[in-house]
Amino acid sequence: MNFKKCLRCGCFFSSADDICPNCTPKDNFEMSKLKSFLVQQTEEPTIADISKGTGIEETNINRFMSNKNFLKEVKKEKSNINFNL
Ligand SMILES: [Zn+2]
Repeated sequence: MNFKKCLRCGCFFSSADDICPNCTPKDNFEMSKLKSFLVQQTEEPTIADISKGTGIEETNINRFMSNKNFLKEVKKEKSNINFNL
């Protein structure tokens, strides 16, 4: 196992994940919030729009949006979604 620096709080922890165990629930909560927000959009929102609409920090939005599994989940719920953020 490698020591990783948590992308949310910056603490060091030992795991294969990018997020420490303390932050994982927050990450999961924000991802589901972001997912329901994106599914409701009719036009492609900007990162700033998303941040304003969800209260999630832009750095975290960028991180979620670069997560292919997350985008797959969003697209599954909204088949015509075509975001390239
Ligand atoms: Zn953390």
